[in-house]
Amino acid sequence: MDAKIIYLDNNATTRCAPEVFNAMLPFFQADYGNPASPHLMGRRAAEAVEKARQQVADCLECDAREVFFTGGATEANNLVLLGLSSLDNPRRKIVTSAIEHKSVLEPLNYLSQRGFSVVNIPASSTGLVDLSVAEKVIDKNTLLVSIQAANNEVGTIQPIRELTSLAHANGAFMHCDAAQVLGKVPVSISALGADFLSFSSHKAYGPKGIGFLVARRSFGAKKLVPVLFGGGQEAGLRPGTLNVPGIVGTGVACEICLKHVFEEQERIARLRDELETRLRERSPLVSFACASSPRLPGTTSILIHGITADVLITHLPDLCISIGSACSSGALTPSHVLTAIGYSRDVSRTAVRLSLGRYNTNEEIEYAVARISCAIDELSSNGTFGLLSQR
Ligand code: PMP
Repeated sequence: MDAKIIYLDNNATTRCAPEVFNAMLPFFQADYGNPASPHLMGRRAAEAVEKARQQVADCLECDAREVFFTGGATEANNLVLLGLSSLDNPRRKIVTSAIEHKSVLEPLNYLSQRGFSVVNIPASSTGLVDLSVAEKVIDKNTLLVSIQAANNEVGTIQPIRELTSLAHANGAFMHCDAAQVLGKVPVSISALGADFLSFSSHKAYGPKGIGFLVARRSFGAKKLVPVLFGGGQEAGLRPGTLNVPGIVGTGVACEICLKHVFEEQERIARLRDELETRLRERSPLVSFACASSPRLPGTTSILIHGITADVLITHLPDLCISIGSACSSGALTPSHVLTAIGYSRDVSRTAVRLSLGRYNTNEEIEYAVARISCAIDELSSNGTFGLLSQR
């Protein structure tokens, strides 16, 4: 990569690990069989898929038969939400939070127009869902509770185990959008207890366009109604020819995450903490959203008093950083996450998200701190405060 470009957007996507890339290559050219084919090439592909499924299961502490490959977390989220809502079940309530990813909020919005009552548990300025409200709203009419494991913008880690207990005590299913935790913090599916969990490989140094749903055998998989039809793959839950190179890459990405996640989370948290401390020392205009909550180790959401994020990032073309969430970048509407946790629209527009990952170095962080502080000094001293200039 160009030495002048520093990538600090690992919550949007990560670099595919070289080990992952190399493991995928043979499945494009030499071993390109369809795993559903009965011949030698097909069997080889099928074996590679099953090996990857086991690598995923080992990484997450679940049974390989509980792993269903999909095109990513968006698809896995939709499969669970739409699939469960098709059940012949009189329960009509779905409990979620306002800070979920759009791939949860939008299917739920669709379901709310079709007779489901969708109830949001509020998240306070801590960026954490309020368990005392959860206790009140999760009841015997609740079909499903769907809460993310960690937030993509502010990085807060939600109390999934407690929410799962509340869901199960009321006979409801628990779904967790776990796209942001894989490879960042250790994940044990048995410990979290949720019935359904969604993942994307590219958030964990794997390839894009592939991910998986974990559906626990105890509740999940057998009851889920598919949303696609037309082939028997993935036990009929996700028909369509399998993306063998992507699946092989996912398996290797998970194997590496399992091996390194403990040391990586510590190193990356140290880098992030250093970055926040240094920026705070350099500029009185900065503050950090949800900084005292349990957070993903590499995520920081920086609010810069009086300077809108779009103005700041045009001054930092050599830093790959995000305005709020990557999925809503490009549209300058304030982040739905920051407004849901109580920031005003104006303050929300000043938020930039930096997300550090496996390949970031101390030198890069020092450089980023210097560049951001200089940009803040420049913009605040010459009066080009973003918010003021927009009025
Ligand atoms: N959920 C969360 C929390 C995410 O951060 C993302 C990616 N931004 C997704 C779901 C969707 O992942 P994908 O685009 O890979 O399907």
